[in-house]
Amino acid sequence: RVVVGTKVDENHVNYETAYNMLTGIRFTVSRTNAKLDRELTEADFVAKHKMSFDITGNELTPSAKYDFKFKDYAPWVFRHLRAIFKIDPAEYLMSLTSKYILSELGSPGKSGSFFYFSRDYKYIIKTIHHGEHKFLRKILKDYYRHVTENPNTLLSQFYGLHRVKIPYGRKIHFVVMNNLFPPHRDIHRTFDLKGSTIGRDFREEDLEKNPRATLKDLNWLRRNLHLEFGPTKKEAFVKQMQRDVALLQRLKIMDYSLLVGIHDLERGNEENLRDKTLQVFQPGGEEKDEPSGGNSRQLARTPSKLETAKRAKELREMVKKERPKPMDQTLDRMPEESHKSSFFFYADDGGFRATHEDDTPGEEIYYLGIIDCLTRYNYVKKAEHFWKGMGGHESQISPIPPDRYGDRFVRFISGITMSRERAEKQRLSAALE
Ligand code: ATP
Ligand code: CA
Ligand code: CA
Repeated sequence: RVVVGTKVDENHVNYETAYNMLTGIRFTVSRTNAKLDRELTEADFVAKHKMSFDITGNELTPSAKYDFKFKDYAPWVFRHLRAIFKIDPAEYLMSLTSKYILSELGSPGKSGSFFYFSRDYKYIIKTIHHGEHKFLRKILKDYYRHVTENPNTLLSQFYGLHRVKIPYGRKIHFVVMNNLFPPHRDIHRTFDLKGSTIGRDFREEDLEKNPRATLKDLNWLRRNLHLEFGPTKKEAFVKQMQRDVALLQRLKIMDYSLLVGIHDLERGNEENLRDKTLQVFQPGGEEKDEPSGGNSRQLARTPSKLETAKRAKELREMVKKERPKPMDQTLDRMPEESHKSSFFFYADDGGFRATHEDDTPGEEIYYLGIIDCLTRYNYVKKAEHFWKGMGGHESQISPIPPDRYGDRFVRFISGITMSRERAEKQRLSAALE
């Protein structure tokens, strides 16, 4: 089953929530950014600001379409984080607020989180559990220090932490973070790698139904794939990964993965052009076990003849151009991703280009990062470890303590990082033995 982003327009069941999220972000981010910049204080890390929006507006907040409460966490810390990650404040607000159009990617993981993409596909809003929210606040200082010292971190870039609540509704916590995948390039294969083998297999038979599925460790190994980096890029990548994982180990975090999107330069963008006329985008979403997801709640919207013709024209122009623009017709300009070019692992058109053994450029661009890094090794995981531990060898079990989880992760990822030439040589010498 293909996981497709669903446009969140007025008819969408989650429109009100999405609207409230964006309205709150716009208000709080512009309020913080309107002030003169200053150094952070201890208090900034624990700061929280509660406000109410209502349809009439009041002296503190402007009027909104709905009544809701919004809570903003550590606004100054996130302002500084956005600056470290070179996010332009005006562009950030534009991406997250213009016209209130987002796309929802159901709930791609098992956690029940929802994912929303900004209309230009640059940012992701992920709803998180209360536990994850509390945990992020707790580690915010460590995270802040880490990214200050490691601006080239592979960890998720957090740009904001907020909460919305509608009258009588439940509290919804969410983070704003970077979308690792580019708005302007097709991702031909997506992998979510943990360095574990238990349950880390996407049924190959289902790939036909869902060609954009997120594959896992065993699928990677079965294909004998590598992150094809020559010695220079490999060293830089492994070093940064080790630093990032050391932080996660120290903070007792586990269950994270390396998300890898592969863009094959030879295939380029021309595939699926037809599909793109009907879809806002096609993220490499993970398969879902439950039958209900974002899609089942999608309200079909058939494009008019005029729209179809307009899109066909856009498509023809798109094929002509080197860097086609995404097919979201509400998008009037190509998203500027220039801020990414100063970051080592996102400098090659938003990603990190494969290299050969002699460091010359390869045939793929990898879009990668360490995601889902807010799960702390707590008693739940310990219990899971105990039960699973009765049955299998520990090295094959996913919930192992954070130190070993991290070591195994680094070992696995470093082990699959090598140029095509080196992989071939290794394969030959193994065959000769
Ligand atoms: P679970 O805990 O069950 O693994 P989750 O709800 O915590 O699920 P994640 O693991 O964070 O979800 O992400 C699920 C999928 O969403 C990923 O495999 C990936 O396809 C997509 N995704 C998550 N974060 C990003 C990101 N920063 N950029 C692009 N895609 C992402
Ligand atoms: Ca995950
Ligand atoms: Ca998770």
